[in-house]
Amino acid sequence: MSHTSSLIRRVSKQIMVGNVAVGGDAPISVQSMTNTLTTDVDATIAQIKRLEAVGADLVRIAVPTMNAAEAFKEIKKRTSLPLIADIHFDYRIALKVAEYGADCLRINPGNIGNEQRIRSVVDCARHYNIPIRIGVNGGSLEKDIQEKYGEPTAAALVESAMRHVDILQRLNFDEFKVSVKASDVLLAVESYQLLAKEIQQPLHLGITEAGGLRSGSVKSAVGLGMLLAQGIGDTLRVSLAADPVEEIKVGFDILKSLRIRSRGINFIACPTCSRQEFDVIATVNELEKRLEDVLIPIDVSIIGCIVNGPGEALVSDIGITGSKHKSAFYEDGKRQKERFDNDKVIDQLEAKIRARISRTDPKNLILKV
Ligand code: SF4
Repeated sequence: MSHTSSLIRRVSKQIMVGNVAVGGDAPISVQSMTNTLTTDVDATIAQIKRLEAVGADLVRIAVPTMNAAEAFKEIKKRTSLPLIADIHFDYRIALKVAEYGADCLRINPGNIGNEQRIRSVVDCARHYNIPIRIGVNGGSLEKDIQEKYGEPTAAALVESAMRHVDILQRLNFDEFKVSVKASDVLLAVESYQLLAKEIQQPLHLGITEAGGLRSGSVKSAVGLGMLLAQGIGDTLRVSLAADPVEEIKVGFDILKSLRIRSRGINFIACPTCSRQEFDVIATVNELEKRLEDVLIPIDVSIIGCIVNGPGEALVSDIGITGSKHKSAFYEDGKRQKERFDNDKVIDQLEAKIRARISRTDPKNLILKV
């Protein structure tokens, strides 16, 4: 029932992060970052598995010390998602984690130090056939760029990114992606727009330090939504001061709302008013929880009364419209003879959704761009 996305995507080079393609015509991947102590191997693995369970494509892990690099080795052995090692400054850690199987290095070549160190990291990435992510952040621009621009501007972020890009290009290394994140939505959007014109490499989108679950999700949805709607972006991370699992869920919700990538249930629900014939809010909240395991994309409309119910049901795979005592049930836009008791809507709807999913060809799980 879904409308498909007609967005025209920016043409970008494709790189591989483990077995996940990023850029080109690959689906826009959703990633998060662990917030456990990396040296706490069991806790980090448990978190990666939770991220995997909600559909994460990629996971980034901070590797601040050599001890963390040793932990990374163990974590890599015991998990299957591609892992991006996040390294700042210490090039020896980059060499170590590459040896230990990192699928991507997040490191800014301009911050590593002298030419020899930069060259050794790039040669190592080439040797292990792994990409690099250059990550520029409005909060940590180089001093001379800060002085030149006075404050973080889009031109400043892009100038910083291009410094790192130029180093890699000079070394004939083009397996990299780039991010230019800022906590200010409009600044981040403008920076990515500028950068998109400068390079062909895939772009990693993010509104950095976006905030807590609600405010950060809204900022990310607005900022990433603006960019994605212009075809910009090849992988994304929603940065929340919250459980990283929420970052993955919000990331997929952003892609889902633009019909870029469908995964799981797309709930359509009315805000409710005194006309509602059953408890719409409780129904949606409970079903969202119960059906988190569903990966197959379907549209489910849950509408409190006939004002908007039949219209939404018409364009949904499954729909319910509240009416006195028993509510009307729709499938594939057609009203069914069966009706739901208004006090048993949650169980009945869950059963219908699960029955439909069990009849759905698993090929539907192939995610569309
Ligand atoms: S669909 Fe009906 S119950 Fe829902 S908000 Fe509109 S009028 Fe109110």
